[in-house]
Amino acid sequence: MQQQLKVAIVGGGIIGTACGLRILETLPAAEVTIFTDQVTPNTTGDVAAGFWTPVYLSKTPTQLSDSWSEETYRYLQSIVESNPTPGENGVHYTPGYTVYRSENLPVISWSHIPIGFRPMTKSEVSMFPPEIKGGYFYVSVMAEGRKLLPILMDKFKRLGGRLVTNRRLTSFDSLIGQGFARIVNCTGLGARDLCADEKMYPIRGQVHRVRAPWMNFWLMDSETSTYCLPNSDTVVLGGTSQKGNWSTEVSAVDKADILHRVTSLWPSLASAPIVQDAVGLRPGREQQQNGERNGIKAAL
Ligand SMILES: Cc1cc2nc3c(=O)[nH]c(=O)nc-3n(C[C@H](O)[C@H](O)[C@H](O)COP(=O)(O)OP(=O)(O)OC[C@H]3O[C@@H](n4cnc5c(N)ncnc54)[C@H](O)[C@@H]3O)c2cc1C
Repeated sequence: MQQQLKVAIVGGGIIGTACGLRILETLPAAEVTIFTDQVTPNTTGDVAAGFWTPVYLSKTPTQLSDSWSEETYRYLQSIVESNPTPGENGVHYTPGYTVYRSENLPVISWSHIPIGFRPMTKSEVSMFPPEIKGGYFYVSVMAEGRKLLPILMDKFKRLGGRLVTNRRLTSFDSLIGQGFARIVNCTGLGARDLCADEKMYPIRGQVHRVRAPWMNFWLMDSETSTYCLPNSDTVVLGGTSQKGNWSTEVSAVDKADILHRVTSLWPSLASAPIVQDAVGLRPGREQQQNGERNGIKAAL
């Protein structure tokens, strides 16, 4: 008789949950268990707006990063296009602009991926303050972690996946002892301690959720890490990208700076009431991130 494949996933954020689901969809007979310290609403993905745009991962080759980005965009598209209730799962198409202070726009290697990618017209540029000289328009997809994570976790369990929470592992040894043939590490920044990987560091992000139902498009100013990303109930204003900062406290200084930058770009946001302040720590590493190993691949 063929033995059932036993898979352990460590970490129950968006990566661990999506990974568990993808394994069960591909190998329905597998026995998949997620071991995790925290689950939604206490993971990094619950802080994020869930905006799709390729972000280069340190020394990860552009081609590889672009292919992951394309796979993710197509996967999210399939959710949008098969989904009659985007308000429930938080996955929706959202058009918007990424703006620059120079008319010489950078060449974008992934311009073939999103719907409608094109340079902004002069009249579009004129909506912004005079220092903005150009930019690109495209249709992104928002995948709001706060809404999508519980749905993916439910689906994982319905397909027979098991979830063990409040379990912070200090090594993989106990899992090997339990006969898991594959272990997938999806611990985000937690991998620093779990794998004694001192090359990892936090990249601190602070955001502010506001009520601004009139903002039905996104704005991104990568040069200053400033953005405005509409979710279905709130709009996420950001941000910060602070390497090596471990603080999960909301900083009043960062808040004032973020609100100043965002409202300089789009003044009507000054009147939007703030409903939540949040901080999350993204995992950073100078060397290439390894998304694929031993034949098991992260789905998002
Ligand atoms: C402010 C901010 C805004 C962002 N905006 C966006 C955006 O718009 N678009 C986008 O694509 N990305 C965005 N990101 C990044 C995105 O949120 C993260 O890349 C993503 O959430 C990471 O998911 P994850 O599952 O890898 O990690 P996490 O969500 O951190 O999950 C890790 C899981 O592992 C568990 N864990 C850790 N260590 C252990 C251990 N030793 N034993 C057991 N369990 C453990 C944790 O409890 C947790 O459940 C943003 C991040 C921040 C902070």
